[in-house]
Amino acid sequence: MVYKYIYQLAIDFLFPPRCVITDQAITKHANNRFLSATAQGFLPLLHIYCPRCSLPLSTPSKSACGECQKHPPQYKRVISPLIYAEPIRSMIQDTKFNNILHNAAFFADLLLKNIQQHYQHQALPQLILPVPLHNKRLQQRGYNQAREISRLLSQQLSISHNDQSLIRIKATDEQSGLNAKQRQHNLKNAFAVAQSLLPIKHVAIVDDVMTTGATVNSVAQTLLDEGVEQVDVWVVARTAK
Ligand SMILES: [Zn+2]
Repeated sequence: MVYKYIYQLAIDFLFPPRCVITDQAITKHANNRFLSATAQGFLPLLHIYCPRCSLPLSTPSKSACGECQKHPPQYKRVISPLIYAEPIRSMIQDTKFNNILHNAAFFADLLLKNIQQHYQHQALPQLILPVPLHNKRLQQRGYNQAREISRLLSQQLSISHNDQSLIRIKATDEQSGLNAKQRQHNLKNAFAVAQSLLPIKHVAIVDDVMTTGATVNSVAQTLLDEGVEQVDVWVVARTAK
């Protein structure tokens, strides 16, 4: 035990952990294993949001936003620690293959703190599923960031994780540039369940970014059709609209 501690101290001294945003060496004062003290002030934290879809709002509200009231989503709620803004936007977009594990660990760590807060008095989901990429996209990109975050959360929360159950059967066109209605149409029947989830009743789906919510809504619909009773959404960042 003592040797392990000394070994870790030596490793940290020789190769101090570096900030995921500024690339500065992280000192003990930062009190965070991913962020320098300076970078902690740069995080676009999501403080005021719709209690259902986590849409960033300008004033606190106990009731759901207009869009959620007009078209209630299939999921129960969204947990998102961040607003999709710089420097997180670049980090999510530019994640290079070599950094994927380190960045995923940082994102999982942020999400974990929010999840623990939100579920203090409520049961955690029984299963975590990453939002899958279509095989074609996965081959182009080489990895699915959502899968890495989901895997880490599963370890930290001791909840099962399954990256085989949910599949993307439709290679949807690029979503950016489409409005909410077009996105919804684009994603209709885009997902399917490859393995029965029974008797699981409560599932969390994990993704990196949530924009209009069309993707997670389509996944939630697929899961509800399979007999799941509650779908929660866990994302790293939420766009402002
Ligand atoms: Zn809402």
